[in-house]
Amino acid sequence: MQISRSFLKPPANIPRLPEWGREVVFVPEPEYVVIPLQYPGRILYKPSVKIGEQVGQNHIIGRSRLGHCIHAPVSGVVRDILAIWSAKIFHVPAILIQRSQRPALPLPEVFQQYGIPLEAASSDTKLKALGVISPWTRPGRYQEEVEEAFPEIRKIIIRAVDEEPTVFINDVIIQNYTLKITRGLVHLAHLSPRAEKILVVSDYLKEWAEQQFGKLVKIVVARSGYKHRISQLLVPKVAGIPIPLNAAYRAHGVAAFSAEYLLNMVDALDGTAPFTGKFLTVAGTSIEKPVTVKVTVGTTIRQVLKYLKLDGNRYARILVGGPMQGIAQYTDLTPLTKTTHGLYLMDEEEIPEETNLTCTNCGRCTRACPVNLQVHLIGRYAEYSMFMETRDFHTEACLECGICAYVCPAHRPLVQLIQLCKKFSGISNEYPQQQSECGASSALERWELDFQNPNAVDSGVASGDGDQPVAVRN
Ligand code: SF4
Ligand code: SF4
Repeated sequence: MQISRSFLKPPANIPRLPEWGREVVFVPEPEYVVIPLQYPGRILYKPSVKIGEQVGQNHIIGRSRLGHCIHAPVSGVVRDILAIWSAKIFHVPAILIQRSQRPALPLPEVFQQYGIPLEAASSDTKLKALGVISPWTRPGRYQEEVEEAFPEIRKIIIRAVDEEPTVFINDVIIQNYTLKITRGLVHLAHLSPRAEKILVVSDYLKEWAEQQFGKLVKIVVARSGYKHRISQLLVPKVAGIPIPLNAAYRAHGVAAFSAEYLLNMVDALDGTAPFTGKFLTVAGTSIEKPVTVKVTVGTTIRQVLKYLKLDGNRYARILVGGPMQGIAQYTDLTPLTKTTHGLYLMDEEEIPEETNLTCTNCGRCTRACPVNLQVHLIGRYAEYSMFMETRDFHTEACLECGICAYVCPAHRPLVQLIQLCKKFSGISNEYPQQQSECGASSALERWELDFQNPNAVDSGVASGDGDQPVAVRN
């Protein structure tokens, strides 16, 4: 079955793919990694290394204002600190590390680097030092950094389901990392004894999850269909606590995070590893069975596709994310970060020949919108740059879920139009316009060219050559 942009499909039932690989494919460490230092609107790391410096895997290479760290996911040499286009299409600074055969930095030395001995580190310090933003301070669904004091947590929601219909990382994780998830639940019981813990799973996993985790956590099933899995709708419903759209969960006594995040918490709280690996699902119209991979943070899209024996040139567009909220990339040299959940490879035939046609006022967008916005009207105002007029239509409630654009027969870029409204009508946006001060957008492309020239740099250790072919429909 293929995901298509047909507007005939009822939006609540945008289906998840029926078949996907339940196992995890490990992509070997690449020859170089590129680590973005800024997640606009969320977190900014100041580099703590210099060009030419040798680093061991785990070495702290950047630190944020509030002491959260980012680490070298491989041992090697810092070859450059440059500006790149991030997956969210922001121009951000990044550190490029070329891999070499140096040993990894033992965790006690990482804590020494942080300034607090491992034995003396509190849970909060361990999380900060090892690159995991604590669920006690994390306001919403993203890796954000805030100083606010939040109320006590009443409910902890652990999502073992993913939003995008082509992303399966949390389904796969709870089945493949059962013991570690159990350990995470035990940690949560000690750290937040009074909070109710709820694990949200797909319906086909309910009985199994009851057996595995039922003594430690309440199991709740998420309805299938994209609309029912959008985090801002799912979390308040499961918690039974009304939370205004796009408000911080923590401000309402709720902590919500994914099963993958719980794994990273376990590694940090046990003091065993920093957050330097990311799970993501690679899917696409012509891929028979989506595959969930684990990559080193900073691996580029090109390196992942090469390992999976997928030809990036064959696809008309490569999206970071999925078909609903994914962002098309300018280049396959985009590095994958701690916040990348999927890659979606679009074929030519999936892209409409004509887009942004005149609105016919058919009303599909408005009927489909899960938060009942007058999407077509907002779009029309935006088209005529009448952004202030859209304030009355409550664009701040938009989840940017993409359903309206998915069902629009005129293929209008409705989400982008709403984003413009939010920006120009003064409504706070999830991604404020904090542009990096760095220049040189094509620096990474230039480095890649140099890298392909064996005389340009010492190429270190050869990377995995791709022995995990993914079946592609012809
Ligand atoms: S924006 Fe698209 S879906 Fe909405 S009313 Fe206009 S044509 Fe119909
Ligand atoms: S993107 Fe916004 S306007 Fe469009 S359907 Fe989702 S919530 Fe409604």
